[in-house]
Amino acid sequence: MEQNCPFCQIIAGERPGRIVHRDDLVTAFWDRAPITPIHILIVPNQHIDSLNEANHEHQALLGHLLLTAQHIARDQGIFDRGYRVLINTGRDGGQTVHHLHVHLIGGKSLPIGLATA
Ligand code: 5GP
Ligand code: ZN
Repeated sequence: MEQNCPFCQIIAGERPGRIVHRDDLVTAFWDRAPITPIHILIVPNQHIDSLNEANHEHQALLGHLLLTAQHIARDQGIFDRGYRVLINTGRDGGQTVHHLHVHLIGGKSLPIGLATA
């Protein structure tokens, strides 16, 4: 655990978080500032700064993050209509919390394509 990491604190129960799923590898909780009606973050229980710090030893974990996003999309009732998963990485990627996380967003029709401006 990283002392000053908000996501490590949520995983450890030291910071409030609306947790929707947890297992041996990952924890998922609502984003505190949702940008869509459904906005849930899926994070590894182990602190990894970003996708850049992941390596082949994390292969199963990375797959599990995505399959957990799919599972939560089903639980949240957006599996059939669709949703988006995003991993912001580093400064230019807009990453603000330096604990690897997958955003699951949906519950509304999202614009086609990705804005870059
Ligand atoms: P990033 O920009 O790093 O990809 O996304 C970080 C996300 O974490 C943002 O959407 C932000 O609202 C969310 N966030 C930051 N701090 C906290 C927190 O303490 N609790 C929760 N639930 N979400 C947080
Ligand atoms: Zn952390």
